[in-house]
Amino acid sequence: MVHASAIENEEYGLWVDGTERPADDGETLTVEDPATGEALTCVAAATEADVATAVSVAATAGEEWGATLPKERSRTLLAIAEAIREHAARLAEIETLENGKPHSEARDQVRRCARHFEYYAGEADKLEGDSIPLGDGYVDYTVHEPLGVTAHIVPWNVPIYLFARSVAPALAAGNTAVVKPAEETPIGALTVARLAEEAGLPSGVLNVVPGDGVEAGAMLTAHPDIDCVTFTGSGATGREVAKSAVSNVNEVHLELGGKSPLLVFPDADPDRAVEETVRGIFTNAGQVCSASSRVLVHEDVHDEYVKRLADAVEGLSVGPGIDDPDVGPLVSDEHQERVGEYLEVGRETVGEPLVGGAAFDRPGYFVEPTVFDHVDNDSRIAQEEVFGPVLTVGTFTDESEAVRLANDTRYGLVAGVMTRDVGRAHRVARDLEAGQVYVNEWFAGGNETPFGGYKESGIGRENGRQAIHNYTQLKNVCVRLD
Ligand code: NAD
Repeated sequence: MVHASAIENEEYGLWVDGTERPADDGETLTVEDPATGEALTCVAAATEADVATAVSVAATAGEEWGATLPKERSRTLLAIAEAIREHAARLAEIETLENGKPHSEARDQVRRCARHFEYYAGEADKLEGDSIPLGDGYVDYTVHEPLGVTAHIVPWNVPIYLFARSVAPALAAGNTAVVKPAEETPIGALTVARLAEEAGLPSGVLNVVPGDGVEAGAMLTAHPDIDCVTFTGSGATGREVAKSAVSNVNEVHLELGGKSPLLVFPDADPDRAVEETVRGIFTNAGQVCSASSRVLVHEDVHDEYVKRLADAVEGLSVGPGIDDPDVGPLVSDEHQERVGEYLEVGRETVGEPLVGGAAFDRPGYFVEPTVFDHVDNDSRIAQEEVFGPVLTVGTFTDESEAVRLANDTRYGLVAGVMTRDVGRAHRVARDLEAGQVYVNEWFAGGNETPFGGYKESGIGRENGRQAIHNYTQLKNVCVRLD
C-alpha cells in the first residue's frame, strides 16, 4: 500500500553544492498530483543568478572530480545505484505522485535508474584510448578527457530514469552536472541528487535547478561556461536549445519525439501482436517518446487484429497511478487539453474512434484509451506526435508498402515488426529508418542498448557503451622519439 508520504516537504529548494536552498528571489512553482489536480508541494524556481551559481559550483567541483581515479568514480556510481535501490519504494511513489503513471511502471523506471548508475560505473574505468601506428620515430596515442560542466534538460514523462540516462555517463566520464528537471516533476531529481551526495558523491558535482523552461532552462543551456548540453523533450524546444549550444560552440545531444510504426504481418502471433501493441501505446498513458503510436497491419489480418485490439483496449482499467491501474492520468490539464484537440482532429479527419475518444468527467487529467481505425498515413493524427493514449491503425498490402508507409514520417525514433519469418524480420529491420527496431517485443532492449533518433527524432544516442563518449573529448598525443 502506498500513500503520499514520499513527498515529505511542503516546499523543496534548489540542490546546489550539496545543500538545499531557496531561489534567489524566493519564487516557487507548485507541483500537482495529476490524478486529482491538487497541489502536492512547492519547489524553488531557479533564477538567472541561481543558474549561474550552480554552473560556477559545478565548474569548481569538476577540478577535483575530473581528476578522481576512474576506479573511485566507478565505486561512487555503484554506491549511488545501491542507494537508489534502498530507497526504491519512496522514489517510485514520488514518480507516481508527480507524473501520474501506474505504480508498477514507476517501480520499473526506478530499477532502470539504479541500473543506469551501475552500468556506467562499469564504464568509468574503461575509457581506453588507442595507440596509432606512425612507424619508427613516433609514439601516438589518444586520451578520452571529460568535457567539463554538462547541462541536462529533462522532461516530465519518465523523470527519474531520464535524469539518470544522461547524468550517469556524464559523471562516470569525470564531468560535473547541472540538471533542470521539468516544471511538473522536479521532486524525483532532487531526491536522487540528495541520495547521490549521501552515497559519497562530492558536493557540487551534481546540482539540480528546478524552474521554468523558458527561463531557467534557456539560461542554463545558453550559459557560456557550459561545455555540453543534453536535451530530452519536444522538437520545438530542442531546436531552440541546439541554436544556443551551437552559438556557444558546445556539444549538443537531442532526444526528441516520435511517431513510431508497428508493422503487423499476417504470420505474426495474433495474441502477441495485440499484447505488444497495447503495451507499446498505453504504457504511461501514451506519454512515451518511443510509443507504438502508429500501427500498420496487413490487410488480410486487419479485421481479426482490430477485433482483438478493441476487446483488449476496452478491458483496460483507468485510474490514479497509485492504485496501479493499466492506464493513469495525463500529466497536466494543459496536456489533457492538447490531447483532446488531437481527438477532435481525429474525429474530423478519420471519423468516430473504434474505442474511447473522450476525456473522463472526473477530477484529474484522464483520457480514455483511444483507437482510430482506417487511418490514412498522410492524416495529421498519423503524422503528428499526440503524446497521449491515442493509437492510429492503417493497412498495407505487401512488405515494400509496409516499409514505405512506416518510413513516411519526419520522425525516426523506433519501429517495431511483428512476424515469425526471420528473413522478413531482418530485411524490414534493415530498411526501417529508425534508431532502434523491435522485433516481436515492443520496448525490447534496455540500459545496454543504444537509443536515439533518425531524422527529426534527435541527434546522438543515449544508453549503451558508446553513450559515455557523449561526455568525453578526444585528445591525440603524438611524440617524436629522437
Ligand atoms: P518540452 O520540450 O516542452 O520540455 C522539456 C524540458 O525542456 C522541460 O524541462 C522544460 O522545462 C524545458 N524547456 C522548455 N523550454 C526550454 C527552453 N527554451 N530552453 C531550455 N529548456 C526548456 O517537452 P515535454 O512536453 O516536457 O516532453 C515531451 C516531449 O519529449 C515529447 O515530444 C517526447 O517525445 C519527448 N521525449 C523524448 C525522449 C527521447 O528519449 N527521445 C524521451 C522522453 C520524451
